[in-house]
Amino acid sequence: MRKTDDITHVAVLGSTGSIGQNTLEIISHFKDRFKVVGLSAGKNTKRLSHQIKTYKPDIVSLREKKDADELKDMKWDHPMEITWGPEGAEKVAGFDKNDVIISAITGINGLRPTLAAVKTGKRLGLANKESMVAAGALINQESSRSGAEVIPVDSEHSGVFQLLHKENLREVNKVILTASGGPFFQLDPKELENQSVESALNHPRWSMGKKITIDSATLMNKGLELIEAKWLFHLPPEKLGVLIHPQSIVHSLVEMRDGSVLAQLSRTDMKIPIQLALTYPHRRESLLPSLDLSKVKALDFFEVDFKKFPLLEMALKALSREQSFSIALNASNEAAVHSFLKKDIRFSDIWEVVIEVVEETEERSVNNIEDILKIDQETRKRTWEKIRKRN
Ligand code: MG
Repeated sequence: MRKTDDITHVAVLGSTGSIGQNTLEIISHFKDRFKVVGLSAGKNTKRLSHQIKTYKPDIVSLREKKDADELKDMKWDHPMEITWGPEGAEKVAGFDKNDVIISAITGINGLRPTLAAVKTGKRLGLANKESMVAAGALINQESSRSGAEVIPVDSEHSGVFQLLHKENLREVNKVILTASGGPFFQLDPKELENQSVESALNHPRWSMGKKITIDSATLMNKGLELIEAKWLFHLPPEKLGVLIHPQSIVHSLVEMRDGSVLAQLSRTDMKIPIQLALTYPHRRESLLPSLDLSKVKALDFFEVDFKKFPLLEMALKALSREQSFSIALNASNEAAVHSFLKKDIRFSDIWEVVIEVVEETEERSVNNIEDILKIDQETRKRTWEKIRKRN
């Protein structure tokens, strides 16, 4: 990682979300080593304003022009560029002073800024899993071209990253991501149908944004993470697996060919993987208390019931299908989750609609940003149409 001086300059994309706020908290704790130079947010002008006052970035971006204009009308006691829209987020990602870019925008909106970050050849701390799902090959291609270092921020992938960094991939039999199982993994399939938005948002272990929390309830989050892992660690489908682990203490396991199984354990807190993405290859003192396994006591593991969580099965299929399959799966899921959050569809409609839409999508290889976004948009439209027809 290039360093301007002793201070590492960080841009945070999606700064007002859960990962963004955690990142800023870590930076505050290590202000002798890190300085925020760029922030990009969606529409939470109020929270962004607070962050600007605290961190004094050189460049900020919001989704809408009107919000950026509102920010421009406010009095700031330091010089700062205020920009907006997808190009604004890309500008923050590609800002010259950045040493590390934390990409934590939710959904496909994170793709262009993530690519812009990769093209700079700097370090990318990747929390936006949807961009890897839709464009893994393209991101890998761009990062090998630019020399960018991609460090996963997702807890499971941070675990795998730590477990694999001294291992030879040929000696790895299997990489297993753990899933908490979400709020419903013990329910009967019939009880799943009509789960409310409120109960789906009530995650037993992790406190996260709404989209990812719903994805955790359908287990689609684990599906997206499997696809993400395939690209991050260059793993063939047969070397990837999932286990339900309700305590969320073991984040991933790597089975070596000699029968050793390596595991990464830590508290259930995103600050740990975020901090590592900032400090790697070094480690700094954690803000959190030690993990006390004598208090955790039991670590349970269960097989996944794919019939109950069909979106995870679709994601497994996606591992050996063309890129369009993953793009459509991700896009349709994103659209369906938003409809569920607006209470337009039932919980089980999420997978029923998504599976129908993905199965109707023409499968082809695609590896440029325009085609990826075209398939994404077109899939969303078909998903909305199906949802409209159902209601
Ligand atoms: Mg995760």
